[in-house]
Amino acid sequence: MSTRVEVDEGLCQGHAVCTGEAPAHFRLGADGKLHIVKPEIDSADLPQLDAAVRYCPNQALRLVKS
Ligand code: SF4
Repeated sequence: MSTRVEVDEGLCQGHAVCTGEAPAHFRLGADGKLHIVKPEIDSADLPQLDAAVRYCPNQALRLVKS
């Protein structure tokens, strides 16, 4: 089973909490939009991604297992 992170662009407002929690996975562009630079999540990354999802003020992130 693999886990990916997805962003709801309609909810994201560029607060950049996620880039602080998991900088290897997210980057905020000059346009203010969030780019997911590494959508796949290794088990070692899960704590960082869990924190990013939990602390996103707009609840714009979610983890998807497949
Ligand atoms: S913390 Fe949430 S609202 Fe802020 S950039 Fe990340 S996904 Fe978007």
